[in-house]
Amino acid sequence: MKTEIISIGTELLLGEITDTNSAYIASQLPLLGLDLNFMSTVGDNQQRLIETLRQAWQRSDIIITTGGLGPTQDDITRESIAEFVGEEITIDHTLVQKFEELFRYYKIEMPPSNIKQAAVIPSAEIIQNPRGTAPGWWVERDNKIIITMPGPPREMQLMWTKEILPRLQQKIASAAIVSKTLKTFGLTEAEVDERANPFLSTKNPSLATYAKFDGIYLRITAKASTEVKAQELIAQRENDLRAILNDYIWGVDSDTVERIVGALLTERGLSLATMESYTGGFLANVITNAHESSKYFKGGLVAYADDSRISFGLSKQLISRYGIVSSQAAEAMATIAREKLGASMGISLTGVMGPEEIEGQPIGTIFIGLDDGQHKRSFSKNYPGNRLQVKQRAVTSALFELRKFLL
Ligand code: ATP
Repeated sequence: MKTEIISIGTELLLGEITDTNSAYIASQLPLLGLDLNFMSTVGDNQQRLIETLRQAWQRSDIIITTGGLGPTQDDITRESIAEFVGEEITIDHTLVQKFEELFRYYKIEMPPSNIKQAAVIPSAEIIQNPRGTAPGWWVERDNKIIITMPGPPREMQLMWTKEILPRLQQKIASAAIVSKTLKTFGLTEAEVDERANPFLSTKNPSLATYAKFDGIYLRITAKASTEVKAQELIAQRENDLRAILNDYIWGVDSDTVERIVGALLTERGLSLATMESYTGGFLANVITNAHESSKYFKGGLVAYADDSRISFGLSKQLISRYGIVSSQAAEAMATIAREKLGASMGISLTGVMGPEEIEGQPIGTIFIGLDDGQHKRSFSKNYPGNRLQVKQRAVTSALFELRKFLL
């Protein structure tokens, strides 16, 4: 089924906000086997939106809009759809009562303009918004569907997963579509592509590669008459891919490297402490993104200035002999973290985040140190990019080295 997305809002056209809603929906459509043919952006202008809806109606089966469902004058999505399909807007009083209850709960008076959000047309089904007052619409006419969702991404995404996705799945229930993502690290996209080449052109299951900050992902999507059969197709293709990429596959679907590392530490009964310089605590922050990280993460030292590194115990002689951006400094920092915080393992990060070189080392140079009380290791890498990108890559890389060390 041909699908298109319309994002609505003048802020989008002014470049004040980035259209992440369309990207999110676009990433969901392959899972349903829906082909996305067009994406467009329209400002808060009723005539232009109606014109865009007209074009979309001619060329697509499903039109998905986000934004413009608020209570203010410039929120024109409902009015535009009503005018486009030639139906009259009425107010759903049950919905108005719900809004009033919600406002009473928050002890604020409901502004009269909110009544606008209870507008409905005969061919629209109201879609609940668990995170806001703007409900969505599901409009079905002449074998075409218009789906409207609110603009705020957290409202839109929950509405999508809870309400829209199941409805769409039911609509296209003739086939079960299942997908699984294998996550790799350590190979470039071109290398993954080359290895996976024999499977990239097959239609069912299909295979696509994506470059992400934590490696290259391979998404396998299979279509079959039942979910079990689709899962079987996925399992076969996963086996094929594991045979050629196994050393590089570190996780699947929603796995994150911090969770994988956390699970390994827990399994081995180990605890971890960090010491960082230029990443300013980013490594500790990411480690604590994993649930139950308090079970194995003791804490982190952030020594940004030279004198704080020395006060934590890094020797002046070591710094003057090897420099702070060195494997010796990285290993010594891992030891300090481990000893000072009483952990079984220490991990450290030092490097050059920019804007200038340090100790003759170019921007993007990082050193990772590891110490488990028996062995010390250090690794050096160089990552291009701006300050934030170098930090993110340094942290991801440190976690992958830790994973390798643990394995
Ligand atoms: P509200 O009731 O909050 O006004 P709405 O459906 O009218 O919801 P808009 O007013 O169009 O939505 O947008 C509200 C906010 O949602 C925007 O300021 C922006 O932060 C976010 N937003 C809107 N559209 C998008 C989009 N396409 N991508 C990412 N964020 C968006």
